[in-house]
Amino acid sequence: MKKNVLVIGAGLGGLAAAISLAQEGYAVTIHEKNVKIGGKLNVLKERGYSFDLGPSILTLPHIFARLFERSGKKMSDCIPIRALRPHWRNFFEDGKVVDLYPESDRMATESRKVGEDPENVQRFLTYSANLYDLVNAGYFEQGLDTSKDFSRF
Ligand SMILES: Cc1cc2nc3c(=O)[nH]c(=O)nc-3n(C[C@H](O)[C@H](O)[C@H](O)COP(=O)(O)OP(=O)(O)OC[C@H]3O[C@@H](n4cnc5c(N)ncnc54)[C@H](O)[C@@H]3O)c2cc1C
Repeated sequence: MKKNVLVIGAGLGGLAAAISLAQEGYAVTIHEKNVKIGGKLNVLKERGYSFDLGPSILTLPHIFARLFERSGKKMSDCIPIRALRPHWRNFFEDGKVVDLYPESDRMATESRKVGEDPENVQRFLTYSANLYDLVNAGYFEQGLDTSKDFSRF
């Protein structure tokens, strides 16, 4: 007989946990207090304008893709995604516009617009990329989530 599991909250975390548990053979029920699922991943529409209430950038699509694959589905069939250029546009009150690009050298140049030294920005981006690789390999790929395991890694 299937074991029952109750998941509280249908944000991205609750939904991903519920899907993973169902894939492992549990009978899952999700309780959500809001009228809509998605948690912070939602949109507010007011007088013709749309506001993201939470995430605007899909940072780790391969993690979501795996969730679909384990259910025998393709994410691209359900949610077609394509990278936008620029990824993101920041508007400052003084009229400056700074765009976000995936290429770190382009980002370093872009940061000149807000008075940053491109070499410092490049160093920071290289440092961040190393952190990302470390977290991806240890936390996401191996599931190391205690400080002891992660330090050893
Ligand atoms: C302004 C903003 C911008 C962000 N931008 C990005 C981004 O660009 N990229 C990115 O990857 N991440 C971004 N994030 C982070 C991302 O939104 C969160 O990490 C993610 O949505 C959190 O999901 P969650 O399921 O953990 O929590 P939540 O989305 O908060 O979901 C929790 C759910 O539980 C429900 N709930 C709580 N208590 C109960 C209860 N007692 N009974 C029933 N239901 C309950 C809530 O109603 C909610 O639906 C952003 C966050 C914010 C706030």
